[in-house]
Amino acid sequence: MIAAALAAVQDRINEAARAAGRDPDSVALVAVSKTHPAEAVEEAVLAGQLVFGENRVQEAKAKFPDLKARFPQLELHLIGPLQTNKVREAVALFDVIESIDRPKLARAVADEMARIGRKPRLLIQVNTGREDQKAGCDPDHVDSLITVCRDQYHLEIEGLMCIPPAEADPAPHFRLLAEMAARNGLSVLSMGMSGDYPAAIRAGATHVRVGSAIFGHRDYA
Ligand SMILES: *Cc1c(COP(=O)(O)O)cnc(C)c1O
Repeated sequence: MIAAALAAVQDRINEAARAAGRDPDSVALVAVSKTHPAEAVEEAVLAGQLVFGENRVQEAKAKFPDLKARFPQLELHLIGPLQTNKVREAVALFDVIESIDRPKLARAVADEMARIGRKPRLLIQVNTGREDQKAGCDPDHVDSLITVCRDQYHLEIEGLMCIPPAEADPAPHFRLLAEMAARNGLSVLSMGMSGDYPAAIRAGATHVRVGSAIFGHRDYA
């Protein structure tokens, strides 16, 4: 079932990319496995999926070390908010951290990367809808955060990530993120989820984060 869902999502990615005049290989699928067990991730790996996203450090730590030992090419993205007291675990486990959103966090990540000699790739999360309850850097502070990361902490930022407001048309948020990335010379754009990834691909997404369309409904109980 997961294999069939993955194939269907990949087909839609390819179709959206071609319709936008883009190479389908320029869009990476991050399979979001939060709340789903390691067995579901394994099923996806056996179907050929190697890139996964988790939004909680603790949950990822419980599921992924074994999977990574068995499938060394597996690539794990942190897509949820990161507290400074979890930085040590996050830098040790994740291959990409998509949720850098403030100087203090950038500094803690830089210190830990230097300490253990591991370099996860980094994206800045932008709160494009300026929602109070949502993590992410204010759009007005993105340029300066990129500069601080680079000049003060010697961190290479690869790109930007956003989660548009749930009820809004996501397209303007995707375009805003693409503009902010372009003016800062960043090539990676992580945007688009199960409900809107074709629109994100039209706006230039290089990574789409798709959970429920692959793994099914999430049960938080
Ligand atoms: C859960 C989550 C997703 C995936 O959402 P779906 O609607 O299930 O595809 C993508 N991005 C982030 C940051 C998430 O937390």
